Amino acid sequence: MSWVTRDFIRECETKVLAGKQLEFDEGLQLISVEGPDVIDLIAAANRVRHEFKGDMISLCSIVNAKSGACSENCSFCAQSAHFKTEIETYPLMNADEIVQAAQEVESHGAQALGIVAAWKGLKEGPVLENVLDRLRVLSSTGLQADASLGIISDPQIAHKLKEAGLHTYNHNLETAESHFNQICTTHTYQDRVQTIRFLKEAGVRICSGGIFGMGENLKQRVEMAMALRELEVDVVPLNFLHAIHGTPLEGVESLVPMEILKIIATYRMLLPEKDIMTAGGRELHLRDLQSWMYAAGASHTLIGNYLTTEGRKAGEDLRMIRDLGLKVASDVVMA
Ligand code: SF4
Repeated sequence: MSWVTRDFIRECETKVLAGKQLEFDEGLQLISVEGPDVIDLIAAANRVRHEFKGDMISLCSIVNAKSGACSENCSFCAQSAHFKTEIETYPLMNADEIVQAAQEVESHGAQALGIVAAWKGLKEGPVLENVLDRLRVLSSTGLQADASLGIISDPQIAHKLKEAGLHTYNHNLETAESHFNQICTTHTYQDRVQTIRFLKEAGVRICSGGIFGMGENLKQRVEMAMALRELEVDVVPLNFLHAIHGTPLEGVESLVPMEILKIIATYRMLLPEKDIMTAGGRELHLRDLQSWMYAAGASHTLIGNYLTTEGRKAGEDLRMIRDLGLKVASDVVMA
């Protein structure tokens, strides 16, 4: 145990609890702690989560409303047409299928459902009209209507999505700007930033984070956190690479649980007021340390299945949250 490190973590916690922001170098030092000091980092992040988010855990879910055949080459993605992966491909779901998905996730305690479609982005035309229809239908179910529809390069489309009932738009930065061209070459990091700006200008909440374990270094993990802070996103989903057979990242070594917990805790310390959401890869890589993600600072969890991989049963997540003495946000809404 290093007393210097322990004191440094305490100083960072005091600074954050006093409402001040940590700097890049402080974030880098936090994400670099090793051995028993990791538990000090987790404990500090837990107190920061409690101060800023209370004991409430929000849940949301996604439906892969249009699968596969995407023109882009994001090297982690099973839905890219550039790679030979074994996924089901289908066109945009109809309205009845969206309603059915909404009823199912609501029964599992989710307050929001995100319609996700695999493509580069939306343009004016019949596809956009269909998407707007599905958003109206989802909105009418009473669930929060969220979506992840790729790059938006026309601000008018962002406004149309908002008018159709869109509450929150998911658009991940995926990784740090300095690592982005190692992950994708068919669009740019700036395309992603611009999409977020258009949606924000239209009054839509932003859910944006990334995927860890794609060869990025510690500095790049902190770099992405600082970029998300600058963009003033609302929810920060943290995914941990589930290397898919057939993608260029197949065979990449998995992150170990303590490394994942350090990422979650550092993001909580750097972005104390944000909803830090644990998402894809959490079950696979955290294994028995699954429940530690809340101690490390998570305040939001994606439940149910992911886009092309299965998650664990929602009931197990609900029980885990309640066993920790935390509250599921929908329980409170329904009470
Ligand atoms: S991450 Fe999105 S844009 Fe990239 S290949 Fe997958 S579906 Fe297409």
